[in-house]
Amino acid sequence: MPIVDLVVLRPGEISLKGGNRRYFEKILRKNLRALLGKDIPIERLWGRFYLGPIPGGGELGNARALAQKAAKVFGVANTSPACRVETNEEAITKACIELMGQELLPQKGTREASFAVRVRRADKTFPKRSMDFARSLGGTLIDAFPQLRVDLDHPMIPLGIEIRPEGSFIFLEQFKGAGGLPVGCEGRVLCLLSGGIDSPVAAWQMMKRGCRVDLLHFDSRPFIGEGSLQKVRRLAHSLNGWQGRTRLGIVEFSEIQTKLRDLPKEGYRTILYRRFMLRIAERIARERGNGALVTGDSLGQVASQTLENLHVVAAASEGLPIFRPLIGFDKEETMALARKIGTFEISIEPFDDCCTLFQPEQPVTRGKIEVAERLEAKVDIEDLVTRAVEECHWET
Ligand code: ATP
Ligand code: MG
Repeated sequence: MPIVDLVVLRPGEISLKGGNRRYFEKILRKNLRALLGKDIPIERLWGRFYLGPIPGGGELGNARALAQKAAKVFGVANTSPACRVETNEEAITKACIELMGQELLPQKGTREASFAVRVRRADKTFPKRSMDFARSLGGTLIDAFPQLRVDLDHPMIPLGIEIRPEGSFIFLEQFKGAGGLPVGCEGRVLCLLSGGIDSPVAAWQMMKRGCRVDLLHFDSRPFIGEGSLQKVRRLAHSLNGWQGRTRLGIVEFSEIQTKLRDLPKEGYRTILYRRFMLRIAERIARERGNGALVTGDSLGQVASQTLENLHVVAAASEGLPIFRPLIGFDKEETMALARKIGTFEISIEPFDDCCTLFQPEQPVTRGKIEVAERLEAKVDIEDLVTRAVEECHWET
């Protein structure tokens, strides 16, 4: 019996990166290693990775589980549980017949099943050309299993064969990968993470484009309960599934909120909160070497996210780039993505968040920088920011 005990992993976009390819592959390998632990060998050969053989078994279930797990790593185009045989026609044919037999077993030979054979020949010393080999193999399989019929466009069973010098790989399944770029290859950013739906999705979008994302939360306890912070921790934990080694920074924010709440013009409150968050985040980002800030803002979604107010908020920064990957998203789109990445159910848990607290009844929608500055002149910005930065603590 051929043993399906490894996974063929095909990197995605990184293979377009020309001269940087080795660098990207190195990071991808490191991320795979962190995900899979020490026990599973990872081999890189000619632009692909082989994971396995899986210790202690070649049961299809294991290789499938591994293929599905590894597909979730950014930078992966797709994965296949596979078996490896010697590169010669006889060995490949024998393995294909046995695998197909296994695959057709549950159908007891009654139902018709469509299939296609797809051969890629990277080993040019293999005597048959890809097309010729695919055709003759297809014929052999039809002879062996009369219920098979060829369908090259939408086969129920796509039988893939990759013929390589190091061996030939046979597989029946392909799992779509997470796409994007390996986390870490585009540097490190700092995402302002609330307990809402949007910011976890924004963090994920940046991970997808190869950033390692540190998370920063502004904590309004004791105005809000312990539960809100636990929720943020659960969000961080969930996001960690996409990058590993996630760090969550927590900034004590209630003192600043109290000071800002007591200022006149309550319509500016949320804008002022945001301006302070940005100042503190920027300072922390610079200290930690984060190349940009990330927020979950989406244009026009709430009063603080009008064009004018985004400007007033951003004006408090000293120029570190601020990315808002959701700026053009509808709420529905963000929610769909949140579901897909696994943060939605946590985000909708009912806990207070810091900005619904003391929310003005009539938030300003067209804020002015001068007004914000005039209001802030009544507090000691530098002192508040410095202390908040110093007291930020990090959790893993
Ligand atoms: P979210 O669903 O991410 O909370 P939102 O649509 O509710 O977004 P706001 O609450 O106005 O919008 O927040 C806009 C952005 O400001 C958030 O996406 C997040 O990046 C940041 N932010 C808001 N509150 C906090 C907080 N307590 N800690 C860290 N960042 C925050
Ligand atoms: Mg929010």
